[in-house]
Amino acid sequence: MTERFTGNFTQQEPIPDEGIEAALQVLRHGRLHRYNVAEGEIAETALLEQEFAAFTGARFCLAVASGGYAMATALRAVGVKPGDTVLSNAFTLAPVPGAIASLGAQVVFVGVTEDLTIDLDDLSAKIGQARVLLLSHMRGHICDMDALMAICDAAGVTVIEDCAHTMGGGWNGVASGRHGVMAAYSCQTYKHMNSGEGGLLITDDEELAARAVMLSGSYMLYDRHLAAPGPEVFERIKYDTPNISGRMDNLRAAILRPQLQSLDAQVARWNERYQMIEAGLRDTPGLQVIERHEAEQYVGSSIQMLLLDWSADKIGEVIARCDARGVELKWFGGEEPVGFTSTYRSWRYANAPLLPDSDRVLAGIVDMRVPLTFSLDDCALISRIIRAEVSAVYQSQV
Ligand SMILES: *Cc1c(COP(=O)(O)O)cnc(C)c1O
Repeated sequence: MTERFTGNFTQQEPIPDEGIEAALQVLRHGRLHRYNVAEGEIAETALLEQEFAAFTGARFCLAVASGGYAMATALRAVGVKPGDTVLSNAFTLAPVPGAIASLGAQVVFVGVTEDLTIDLDDLSAKIGQARVLLLSHMRGHICDMDALMAICDAAGVTVIEDCAHTMGGGWNGVASGRHGVMAAYSCQTYKHMNSGEGGLLITDDEELAARAVMLSGSYMLYDRHLAAPGPEVFERIKYDTPNISGRMDNLRAAILRPQLQSLDAQVARWNERYQMIEAGLRDTPGLQVIERHEAEQYVGSSIQMLLLDWSADKIGEVIARCDARGVELKWFGGEEPVGFTSTYRSWRYANAPLLPDSDRVLAGIVDMRVPLTFSLDDCALISRIIRAEVSAVYQSQV
């Protein structure tokens, strides 16, 4: 009998009961805007910021409307201007080059290695072309952060981290997002905490924190933040920092706070599932699993595999055959962008030169979500299906 998987790859877990209760309270009192507080009340948004700062170890935190907004705000805060160039990953998602484009800046793409991390040789070669690197830990793959920071520090390049897929992860015991001067996280439904939409921004730099708060649309109400610098810092920047509204509201913060409390436990659950699938895929002929560095504390909320140097037709066949058995794989190598998958070649506004080494890697990346609604048995079944279909197509090629 041919096994078939019947689960749903886009179904996340429900919001925890505590979050639902807290959301109902906000709805009942009606003070959804973060600066709309009753006498003596502290807004859910301010509490979330304080708790997320403590979680990451950062001095300051700001909650905003999306991960994309958090990245654009970080770029503005560090002083990127229209026409400036910003380095970023060729392997990432559309909101990353989009954040750079939103400032009228120009992205210079840095290649990707077979580990699916940023190519540090390519970074070294291009480091002189920009003052800022927007580093995307795409699909949770963290490069050697000590080596990356050495390259950037030596060149005086400011690093902003996109931690949309590494919230709760780390490198060598340092939380992901704590190497660069600022880091952006997403609370969109498919990330590690779910408020539908939402973003968080952290930094240790008081002036950058104050700028970010003003940029997000604080008017002169910045004293209602618990994870922001003191008023004297705002005095220095308040007349020359525009308001580009993108605040988070109290409803979302209320939903997120209980999720933050269980984030470490959720990370452990993701990794159990990831490791189950990885073990099932290892040593499949023609398929390369992505080896993780021992210093990398990853969050296995998705898994990638490489069908390196396969023809487009054969990869298409694998994807169709897995799909027929209920396993939804995404391919990053397709010529036309589909759904969430796209490559730097799809962002034509960036006018990027081709990166042949990266194209070879991108053409072989197959990607799969690992929602926590999957059981470990589901994960074992999924890996058996992928293994069987990859093997069958591989054997037909040789
Ligand atoms: C989701 C995501 C973001 C931010 O996305 P928003 O939808 O704006 O919250 C940033 N980078 C990557 C790699 C992402 O996947």
